[in-house]
Amino acid sequence: MSDYNEWHKALRAFRGPASLRPCEWCGLTADEWALDPRTEHPIQRDEPDGHPYSEFSAAYKALCRPCHRRTDKLRHQVSEADFPAALDALRASRWAMVSDGHRRIDAEFRASVAEPIHRELDHQSDKRARRNRR
Ligand SMILES: [Zn+2]
Repeated sequence: MSDYNEWHKALRAFRGPASLRPCEWCGLTADEWALDPRTEHPIQRDEPDGHPYSEFSAAYKALCRPCHRRTDKLRHQVSEADFPAALDALRASRWAMVSDGHRRIDAEFRASVAEPIHRELDHQSDKRARRNRR
């Protein structure tokens, strides 16, 4: 497995699935962890395919698939100098596309999915703690 894939696996283990979080851009349920284009953490490139990745989990943001795709596309559409402003504009337009009501319903659904998962994780760590006490 490539380093890129290894780090995505580690990220999921550290921060849980992105699908339990809202997309940082539009506020609907996220699909994947995406490298923040403005991260100040060091970026590495995978060999041989050149996928950028970071060994810092804080360098990633939870994004939905459409927001992630558009961010990647934007990088090829504008110059490096114009990228930060274009990114702000894209982000504002993604947020404006979704109503607060839609975001609220999505958040309720996410909570209903996340709650049993968190309960199971708590249960497992309780069991581990009890075992270790013996
Ligand atoms: Zn989104």
